[in-house]
Amino acid sequence: MDNAAKAPLEEVPDVGDSLDPAKVMERTLRRAADEADADLVVLLRREDDELVEEAGFDRASLNGHLQPIPLAGDQASRLALELGEPVLRSPEPLSAGAGSSAGLGAIRHSARVPLRAEPETSALLLFLGRRRGGPFTRDDAALLEVLAHQAAIAIRNAELYERAQKTARRLQVGVDVALEVAARLEPDEVVERILRRALEAVEADRATLGRMEGGFECTILGSVDRTEDQAPVGRTVSLESQDPVVEAMTTRRPVQGHLAYERIGMRPLRWDLVIPLVVGGELVALLGVSRDRRQFDEDEIAVLQQIGSVAALAFRNATLFQSLREASRVRSQFLNMAAHELRTPLSVIGGYASMLSDGTLGEAPSAWRMPLAVVVEKTKELAHLIDDILLAGRLESGVARTSGRSMDLTAALREATQRAGARAKLIDARLKVEPPPGTVQVWGEPDHVARILDNLVNNAFNYSPEQAEVSITSEVGEHWAVVRVEDHGRGISEEHRDHIFQQFYRVEDPKDGYPPGTGLGLFISRALAERYGGNLDLEWTEPGQGSRFALRLPLFDAAA
Ligand code: ADP
Repeated sequence: MDNAAKAPLEEVPDVGDSLDPAKVMERTLRRAADEADADLVVLLRREDDELVEEAGFDRASLNGHLQPIPLAGDQASRLALELGEPVLRSPEPLSAGAGSSAGLGAIRHSARVPLRAEPETSALLLFLGRRRGGPFTRDDAALLEVLAHQAAIAIRNAELYERAQKTARRLQVGVDVALEVAARLEPDEVVERILRRALEAVEADRATLGRMEGGFECTILGSVDRTEDQAPVGRTVSLESQDPVVEAMTTRRPVQGHLAYERIGMRPLRWDLVIPLVVGGELVALLGVSRDRRQFDEDEIAVLQQIGSVAALAFRNATLFQSLREASRVRSQFLNMAAHELRTPLSVIGGYASMLSDGTLGEAPSAWRMPLAVVVEKTKELAHLIDDILLAGRLESGVARTSGRSMDLTAALREATQRAGARAKLIDARLKVEPPPGTVQVWGEPDHVARILDNLVNNAFNYSPEQAEVSITSEVGEHWAVVRVEDHGRGISEEHRDHIFQQFYRVEDPKDGYPPGTGLGLFISRALAERYGGNLDLEWTEPGQGSRFALRLPLFDAAA
């Protein structure tokens, strides 16, 4: 026995010390060779009905690597796997007559030892060969069985670990894509990012996304292509005759095959994968990933499936958002148009009503006086509403941009208090005001700031019980002036807090004698505050206890 070629056992690390399957296998081979004085060790795996070499080690070859060995159909190995026990052969029948000094050629004695890791039946087997010395003994076999058992467990652990790592990596890709696209609401941007991610994840040559339009009709929304081939974006195509698509649509699973890209004027590629994007059971889009190089393997398909499930959600959100925005645009457009159309006739009605009521057109019968006063009042209310709708429309579209100028906030507060005082008296409310000492110059437009303050104070009265208590306080900081309007009224429950600044949003509570309103006040007020670089927030509220709104405006000096 040539002991010089044999590595001492201590130097071979324990087979279970690594979580890399390749390393575990290599160490298994080295240990087995050392412990059983073998010249050649091969690790075989049974796959379907074949025995495939996983790794091999040969002392006779320079680098220890093995030449391919014809063990694919080896009967003795099958027997060992079936019995779950070592099978020893001497002389080794497979090498009979072969003269080569490497590979199986010069093997005289052999041992085939299955790697068992209960509860699974083994699919792994060690083939050991000796070129010199005596046959493998029962003692060798017993020793090898122990090693084989350790190795089986180590290999299984390493493989499980590798699988877990792969799953983690796959999930990470999903998380990354989710983080990247979740916050985006522009459909074009979402599509572009999904496609780039899919392309990069599997090094594909092309990724294409199409929206399902019902049946087999699909509109191409975007495509990224390493070869710069241009997709007919925006075109609706029928996919009825494209087999992988039909299969992916029916099974709702990724399908690999060939897509006839030439039918839409693009260069066909060798391998195509179709991933259906499904949300809530509904097929919303198809993601096609293609390349020339090679087929997509199981792992790549799993990664793309992961991207697909995130992409489906992001895509659906972006599409919904777009239709919402479109609906909102149509609504605003209609309201604007209606408000414009109403303005002229309303001012004519208002004008005549005022003339009738103030006697310009002659003394009105006394029975008309009250109804005329109501007409004049209601016409004013209506005119106010129309103005609000028009202003809200302008603020929303950004047309009402005003740069602002220096204005005295203290004076604005004084005037707002005077206007509110009259109403407070009428409804027996208490209004407490703490204006800032001296003048405070802020960015703004007196009309607009007056409007914001009136809205806040009126709301405070409106949404408080009788004998409301409302306070207006102010604070001047280094860069900002803050006006706070606080009431002890009904407050705002949690589910409404995020919405009250939206156009037309009202907390409807009909059973409670809820005050009438349009739901435009806070939207307009906040938009106006923002026009001057300020803001308006609900600072505190508690249902049944009250609310406090804070208007913040930049100080004129600080902003200059
Ligand atoms: P409007 O008062 O015309 O309904 P706003 O935009 O001013 O419109 O207010 C929107 C909604 O916010 C109101 O309908 C009301 O439900 C709620 N709200 C506003 N201010 C207060 C407040 N001070 N206390 C309680 N709820 C309020």
